[in-house]
Amino acid sequence: MRVPIFAFIAIAICNFALAEVTVDSLPQSSLVPGGIAVVPVHGDAVSGSFRNERILLARYDGAQYAIIGIPLDAEPGPQQFNITDRDGEESLLQFEIVHKQYRERHLTITNERQVNPNAEDMERIGRESVEMRRAFSTWSESLAPEFAMSLPVDGVRSSSFGSRSFFNGQPRNPHSGMDIAAPEGTPILAPAPGVILTTGNYFFNGNTIIMDHGHGLISLYCHMNTIDVEPGAVIAAGEQIGAVGSTGRVTGPHLHWSVNLNNVRVDPALFLGENPSP
Ligand SMILES: [Zn+2]
Repeated sequence: MRVPIFAFIAIAICNFALAEVTVDSLPQSSLVPGGIAVVPVHGDAVSGSFRNERILLARYDGAQYAIIGIPLDAEPGPQQFNITDRDGEESLLQFEIVHKQYRERHLTITNERQVNPNAEDMERIGRESVEMRRAFSTWSESLAPEFAMSLPVDGVRSSSFGSRSFFNGQPRNPHSGMDIAAPEGTPILAPAPGVILTTGNYFFNGNTIIMDHGHGLISLYCHMNTIDVEPGAVIAAGEQIGAVGSTGRVTGPHLHWSVNLNNVRVDPALFLGENPSP
């Protein structure tokens, strides 16, 4: 009987040890839709959730924080999340978000099907969005996220995160990433270490890479000319993963870069040591 008991204890200790991660830096807190709530918690939480998605818990400088992505469609006001401590006790915590007026952007797309897709396109788009949602909700316990990122492309940031988007005059989802314009073929460098989750060619996003940085921190690279990595590849910060292109729904060559926490697209500027996007 002793062996199974020891095994059980070892697994239990291991789970506790893995439930949070120690980090060198925190992302910038920005309590707005599309921002990040960096909330101090009581110090012995082992898991937490916000809107039914698991949240990242990190230890920084001896204190424990919940690092929560706030959806672009979140209403201003109090937002509640759960944490569970090592005794299994649950508590409800909250943070308050304020309204943010994002800009508008109007784009003209010459390929009408990319604005009003036909039935066959819609089927493809549905399949792809399931695939992408699955990738965005990946949780990798053994990867330790790094929040201090560098800009993945040396280029011009042509439109900001969160802007309300109109394609050929028709309202569409708000812009959920950062666009960086650069000539076709400009190298795209990993902004932080991670593992390649998925690569593919998607209707709107063109040639795409989804990269896992651990604990629900996941980044997306779209419209690429070439993809230089395979799923499963372990990538160092600064390593080339592909090149800028104009595949998918674009008006010119650029990288669309987005960063996800708890399956929510947040402002990538918050990982660059900058102020939030205007
Ligand atoms: Zn974009």
